[in-house]
Amino acid sequence: MSSSTQPASLNPTLFERAKRVIPGGVNSPVRAFRAVGGTPRFIARAQGAYMWDADGKKYIDYIGSWGPMILGHGHPAVLEAVQKAATEGFSFGAPTEREVELAEEILKHVPSMEMLRLVSSGTEAGMSAIRLARGATNRPKIIKFEGCYHGHADSLLVKAGSGLATFGHPTSAGVPPEVVQHTLVLEYNNVQQIEEAFALHGKDVACIIIEPIAGNMNFVRASLPFMRRCRELCTQHGALLILDEVMTGFRVALGSAQSLYAKAIPGFKPDLTVLGKVIGGGMPLAAFGGPRAIMEQMAPLGPVYQAGTLSGNPIATACGLATLKEIAKPGFYESLAKKTRSLVDGLQTAANGAGVPFVGDSEGGMFGFFLLPQLPQNYTQVMKTEGAKFNALFHGLLDRGVYIAPALYEAGFVSAAHSEADIDATLEASTDIFKLMR
Ligand SMILES: *Cc1c(COP(=O)(O)O)cnc(C)c1O
Repeated sequence: MSSSTQPASLNPTLFERAKRVIPGGVNSPVRAFRAVGGTPRFIARAQGAYMWDADGKKYIDYIGSWGPMILGHGHPAVLEAVQKAATEGFSFGAPTEREVELAEEILKHVPSMEMLRLVSSGTEAGMSAIRLARGATNRPKIIKFEGCYHGHADSLLVKAGSGLATFGHPTSAGVPPEVVQHTLVLEYNNVQQIEEAFALHGKDVACIIIEPIAGNMNFVRASLPFMRRCRELCTQHGALLILDEVMTGFRVALGSAQSLYAKAIPGFKPDLTVLGKVIGGGMPLAAFGGPRAIMEQMAPLGPVYQAGTLSGNPIATACGLATLKEIAKPGFYESLAKKTRSLVDGLQTAANGAGVPFVGDSEGGMFGFFLLPQLPQNYTQVMKTEGAKFNALFHGLLDRGVYIAPALYEAGFVSAAHSEADIDATLEASTDIFKLMR
């Protein structure tokens, strides 16, 4: 019998098939639903705020491909740009005008950067920015924070050591301890720890790399005193401050998260910025950039090597450019932020009504919530959420056609395509589930 006559069994069948040829059946671990249990949904198509799985079930999508789909799926202007680009050629391995246009468009909105380089993934961008920081400072050590994700480069797959004098331990097999010996992992939002770290290692530190709003531990903002101190210490010690805005870039504001910190901290700007996700509009595209003097350290001008066969791909740049043109229209972020905030406020009301501990936050089109009484400030506090409670919420929503991230440490995303009716339907489903969870 063909699978089309057995719609109910199609999805498990597909997962079985996938598991035979792809480790865990997925090409990126979080998709496997290991944290929440159950079978991942295989997505057949998407339009606007919705996705349909291989069984034909419709979902309101709050993942948005983990952030890129800020306009929703299949936006007509983006689709047209991609179709036109495809007819002109898939890849040339030579420079194109569109790469220049995209670089100009990005730089216009993020003035801390004077130059950038386009790459194909956030991992590649983060890894290259760190290499550049080390090359430009001629120093070995880097500081990152527990709960922040900057891609899966070897030197970043590391957790904190037993004290500030010791460097981290690998979190993945295949990463020798020597490879992470220069990576210092500190607690997010802990001012005292960065001060101590610079006191001990200041002259060897090439950079701090940080998510300004940490979306890889759901949604945790870097406090103003913490971000200010990161900036001051980097400046004092001649280290570079790298803001990893792969998730927050063009997602929380047109000027990215750094524009929000610059409003609150006079003169604030990072040395290097890492972008991805939204700037590709759903295509494999990312970037890193900064001041001319630092960026000119990159090959072919300078000694820091970096390259990519598909970097600045003509179809990816067409997709990114069309996306950026839409989101730069007046009022775009105001409307997106209002909608996102109404979702978080509505969830709060629903949880309060059922007596379920809940706290949420949002910025622009990015949101997070915790089944906790207070907003956590670091990874240890985030992980105090009861997994079983989150899983009940996740599966309850999924059954009711609402698709949120299948792990409690992931952020959520609202797109311009989500309607008030979509938000209302989400809140209705949530109200039901919170009542069951009580
Ligand atoms: C997604 C993400 C990355 C990695 O990007 P990929 O394109 O998945 O390699 C890096 N940093 C942050 C903050 C991210 O959210």
